[in-house]
Amino acid sequence: GPLFEACESVLPQKGPRDRVIFLSPAGSPFTQDKAKELYRDYNHLVLICGHYEGVDHRVEEYLADELISIGDYVLTGGELGAMVISDAVARMVPGVLGDAGSAAGDSFYEPILEYPQYTKPVDYRGWKVPEILVSGHHANIARWRRKEALRRTLKCRPDLLAKLQMTAEDKKLMAEIAGEEEES
Ligand code: SAM
Repeated sequence: GPLFEACESVLPQKGPRDRVIFLSPAGSPFTQDKAKELYRDYNHLVLICGHYEGVDHRVEEYLADELISIGDYVLTGGELGAMVISDAVARMVPGVLGDAGSAAGDSFYEPILEYPQYTKPVDYRGWKVPEILVSGHHANIARWRRKEALRRTLKCRPDLLAKLQMTAEDKKLMAEIAGEEEES
């Protein structure tokens, strides 16, 4: 009862741009695509968190529009999952990140991991920032970043590459990577 009433109190006139989500290990897996969809398609998200045994099944059946899981493991309560969803969705809202372009450059915005990031100093204990990144040549830097993003995805999450729509340039970079990996 309290869950139905709490929901009705925050969404007295629930419309198509309001979404009630129940956090559950039985839900569909939370992904960047789902975060994008929640940001794009809804104005209000209500995230219901169960605790201990969970909640009466009628919440799942008659109150929730959908069930989302944040991974194949069981948490004590849904609060951490709700924070994960809130954070991933909120960072797409204009103004939340300092640089409007940063969310689009992150891992998973496309099904590819982000390129390696470096900061100062250029030389730390003999481990140097790749020379190209301090060259100031923007086109070469962009090419390097795309290539290293592809290399990192191939190494850490090769399953993602099957979903990536590769451009002709991506295919060329992948061929270069394959040649370099064979050499080393
Ligand atoms: N008996 C439930 C089951 O096996 O599905 C588990 C209940 S769990 C201990 C308590 C609550 O934590 C759930 O109702 C859900 O809201 C939340 N929860 C646990 N694991 C989760 C996950 N992987 N993703 C999202 N929510 C989760």
